[in-house]
Amino acid sequence: MPVQTPVVIIGAGPAGLTLSHLLHLRGVESVVIESRSREDVENTVRAGILEQGTMNLMRETGVGDRMDREADIDEGIDISIEGKRTRIALTELTGHNVAVYPQHEYLKDFIARRLADDGTILFETTVDDVTGTDDDSVPSQVRYTTADGTQETITCDYVVAADGSKSPYRARVVEATGGARSRHEYPYAWFGILVDGPKTQKELIYATHPEGFALISTRTDDIQRYYLQCDPNDDPENWSDDRIWEQLHLRVDSEDLQVAEGRIFDKSVLRFRSAVTEPMQHGRLFLAGDAAHTVPPTGAKGLNLAVADVAVLAPALARAVKDKDERLLADYSSIALPRIWRAQHFSYWMSTMLHAAPGETRFEANRRVAELDAVLRSEAGRRYHAEQYVGADLPVFD
Ligand SMILES: Cc1cc2nc3c(=O)[nH]c(=O)nc-3n(C[C@H](O)[C@H](O)[C@H](O)COP(=O)(O)OP(=O)(O)OC[C@H]3O[C@@H](n4cnc5c(N)ncnc54)[C@H](O)[C@@H]3O)c2cc1C
Repeated sequence: MPVQTPVVIIGAGPAGLTLSHLLHLRGVESVVIESRSREDVENTVRAGILEQGTMNLMRETGVGDRMDREADIDEGIDISIEGKRTRIALTELTGHNVAVYPQHEYLKDFIARRLADDGTILFETTVDDVTGTDDDSVPSQVRYTTADGTQETITCDYVVAADGSKSPYRARVVEATGGARSRHEYPYAWFGILVDGPKTQKELIYATHPEGFALISTRTDDIQRYYLQCDPNDDPENWSDDRIWEQLHLRVDSEDLQVAEGRIFDKSVLRFRSAVTEPMQHGRLFLAGDAAHTVPPTGAKGLNLAVADVAVLAPALARAVKDKDERLLADYSSIALPRIWRAQHFSYWMSTMLHAAPGETRFEANRRVAELDAVLRSEAGRRYHAEQYVGADLPVFD
């Protein structure tokens, strides 16, 4: 087991693995500690859309070959109001596109690359505590427990908490800095299914209907990801296969399109909220990805924001480790946060236009749909939506 490293990264999700890879390319080694097994990390289905900037980062850092071979590149999305679809031509409007490439495939590529580069990822190993990150007179130490129950300690210069939406470290940052955690709760959730069957169509369909929202998405040629708006306290048991297909057809079908059915092999309720922690650092402890912020999945920003954070953090950490220059590191939060808030706004805006809030009055429903209709009718509206959806390019530092 390593006893010392410049950077310890807690979590082998998109934030942690991407950061470790970017640091390695800048000549800085790190240790990634992940409580789950490699198999679990590589098989858990979560997000599925890569923004243009995330694709660029994969290609430019030598991890994009399989994505280029296997991902579906989408040049548009459909937005449907009661079965009437309008296409947002992403590529035509912005010059960029998105890739449908499941998060677990992204993680497989980065794990393989880190291991090929002799990187250290400790799977089935849980971080128990972090000490010394706010005190320059003592070294930072990370205490962890391995799969066989052995307790170990590793000493480092910097700790990055990339440990997901339940991170205990953000409360520590907020308390130490007098910062804040801003939150917004939504009165709805997504009931998600995985389907063994053919695609309904190549490009995603975001649908609104008086019965609620639906999303027709895909993971591979043979596995489809569909979502239906539901109550946050809903139980997957309440959703029989018949009810699922009836609701998907009702919310999405039109004269020229029918949702393609298949064998449903997974049902789950995905609750969501918006939240941002500010600042995202204290002393030598840094938050990245879902540890710092959470977005509703509607805008497909979760994975992409995690990658955008570490695209800022990696060069700043490299400069601090190699040149002992912490000035860029000091600016990490102020560089990352404006992009995070823009993504929060877009995810909130898209969510609230597309979902029928419980108890919505006739006025509220008609105004909401009129707003969406106005965006779709206007070329400027579609362009704005497309720009936000594909994401601006990732920040680049020399
Ligand atoms: C069920 C689900 C569905 C989703 N669907 C979508 C979607 O459709 N579209 C979208 O854009 N986003 C979606 N998201 C969000 C997206 O997956 C996240 O935004 C993304 O995973 C964030 O990456 P991350 O690296 O910050 O955190 P994570 O991917 O959560 O990685 C954190 C890692 O840290 C590990 N960890 C935690 N604590 C410890 C510890 N103490 N010691 C060691 N390891 C630890 C965890 O095991 C985990 O592997 C979904 C999320 C979930 C949960």
